[in-house]
Amino acid sequence: MSLDSLHDLYVEELRDLYNAESQLLKALPKMAKAASAPELRAAFEEHLAVTEGQVERLDQIFESLGERPTGKKCVAMEGLIEEGKELMKEDAAPAVLDAALIAAAQRVEHYEMAGYGCVRTYARLLGFDDAAELLQATLNEEGDADHKLTELAESVINVEAEEEGEEKEPPRRPASKRKSAAGRAR
Ligand code: FE
Ligand code: FE
Ligand code: FE
Ligand code: ZN
Repeated sequence: MSLDSLHDLYVEELRDLYNAESQLLKALPKMAKAASAPELRAAFEEHLAVTEGQVERLDQIFESLGERPTGKKCVAMEGLIEEGKELMKEDAAPAVLDAALIAAAQRVEHYEMAGYGCVRTYARLLGFDDAAELLQATLNEEGDADHKLTELAESVINVEAEEEGEEKEPPRRPASKRKSAAGRAR
């Protein structure tokens, strides 16, 4: 497709987002399954349901444009999801993996927020007011998801991940001794 106008770019970016969301529909259940903390699992499951609604909004916008949503692969989302998959393959302590899943998911949300912010602005400029409202609604949901993940990280997940490390330390051995022992081994 040639990009000769903002309208062309608008459609192209919407296709990218459509593909990104479709990839997430497959990835979110896996992330929910990999999460140990029930609150985190619930957050991923909830965002999966929200994501289904976001795809429906995009379907609605494509219908009103008389365009097809398919034909573009979001390679950036593919990469973000791939990084998440790599994390899940690691031999990680459960709470540490939870913290890592949040880090991966927040990258995804921020990528989506950047994309939806742009198309929302294009929609306004092009006079597609209804679409602009739909895209703003999705943008708000991505922001909410991001903040929810921050709250979970700060209230429980990162704290548990930090404690996980403590449990693995040998008992009654001060940090200074461990350091010098490591120094000798080198
Ligand atoms: Fe989304
Ligand atoms: Fe993309
Ligand atoms: Fe999202
Ligand atoms: Zn954020």
